[in-house]
Amino acid sequence: MPSHKLLLLAGDGIGPEVMAEVKRLLAFLAKRGIADFAIEEGLVGGACYDAHKRAITGETMAQAHAADAVIFGAVGGPKWDKVPFEVRPEAGLLRLRKELGLFANIRPAIVYPALADASSLKREAVDGLDIVILRELTGGVYFGEPKTITDLGNGQKRAIDTQVYDTYEIERIARVGFELARARRNKLTSMEKRNVMKTGVLWHEVVEQVHAREFPNVQLEHMLADAGGMQLVRWPKQFDVIVTDNLFGDMLSDVAAMLTGSLGMLPSASLGEVDAKTRRRKAMYEPVHGSAPDIAGKGRANPIAMLASFGMAMRYSFAMNKQADMLDAAIAAALAKGLRTADIKSEGAKIVSTAEMGAAIVGEMEKLAA
Ligand code: NAD
Repeated sequence: MPSHKLLLLAGDGIGPEVMAEVKRLLAFLAKRGIADFAIEEGLVGGACYDAHKRAITGETMAQAHAADAVIFGAVGGPKWDKVPFEVRPEAGLLRLRKELGLFANIRPAIVYPALADASSLKREAVDGLDIVILRELTGGVYFGEPKTITDLGNGQKRAIDTQVYDTYEIERIARVGFELARARRNKLTSMEKRNVMKTGVLWHEVVEQVHAREFPNVQLEHMLADAGGMQLVRWPKQFDVIVTDNLFGDMLSDVAAMLTGSLGMLPSASLGEVDAKTRRRKAMYEPVHGSAPDIAGKGRANPIAMLASFGMAMRYSFAMNKQADMLDAAIAAALAKGLRTADIKSEGAKIVSTAEMGAAIVGEMEKLAA
């Protein structure tokens, strides 16, 4: 009996194309007896709108709740630009994030040696880079109330956003940060703006408390978020795991993304609370990129972000670290052979299709597993 339950939601545009490569990998893992997943599939985004006039159905939501991990492709595209706001493709993604309570967004920034020249920074600054940005995803200024624009009646308007954090929200994201760091190079950097923001003062205080109480053996440092941004583009290799709030995390994770060169290379994971019964976290894994309508259906999409997102599922949901390491090594090996999808092409490299890249990576896995 398969012990791990996956829900695959491919979505729109290049979503199904890159998800096909995850299925290729799953077939390999099953065939070799490495892991046998129980797999369900569902519709989300525009594809679900076309079939059911909504962005995700209650039935698919129930499957997502029951799954050990949701593997998500991408949603959206010009075809659905005019559908009502509440049922637009992105509504499916937002409903999943909200109802699964996915408060911790993990985005690794990894620079494979073969791609170090694609970064906007010098090779020596990024070659071999492997850091993680952990962003609080369900609180802070994007959700705080009041959130208003008021007409002041004198030709002026006033806009208000509210940055709010409660202790428990900071505690739980800090815990994820310490746990991640402990499984890596044991260093956590917490970023806030305690010099000008009360939420920064509380953030700093609570992270210190969680550290002293639960993770005294992890190295902790604090940085003001603006200084952290500078350090991230000056010498990113000084970091291991960075934990920060929703707003700063939004910006810093995009900055870190650019260090690595291409959208087609960036995976992500979003985690929820640990379930008291199963001891597992609700979790969803997805590439950072969207549905790329400009290249959809042409076999040009880079499947690495999607495959690496599945690699994160192996690591964070299924404790399959060895297999996840193997997948990372297989991706590095395919790149080192000069294989490139069009988005990461470089001089002298061989341009391959989505399926050819997927097959090459699984082929490398096969060699590593032999
Ligand atoms: P996008 O990420 O889809 O594409 C941006 C650019 O990067 C395009 O030129 C695209 O061809 C390229 N690109 C993206 N992923 C690639 C890959 N794997 N391989 C090769 N090239 C890749 O962003 P966009 O164009 O701003 O948005 C397109 C649609 O996707 C919109 O409807 C948007 O709302 C949606 N979107 C969805 C998500 C999501 O599902 N999580 C995220 C972002 C955007």
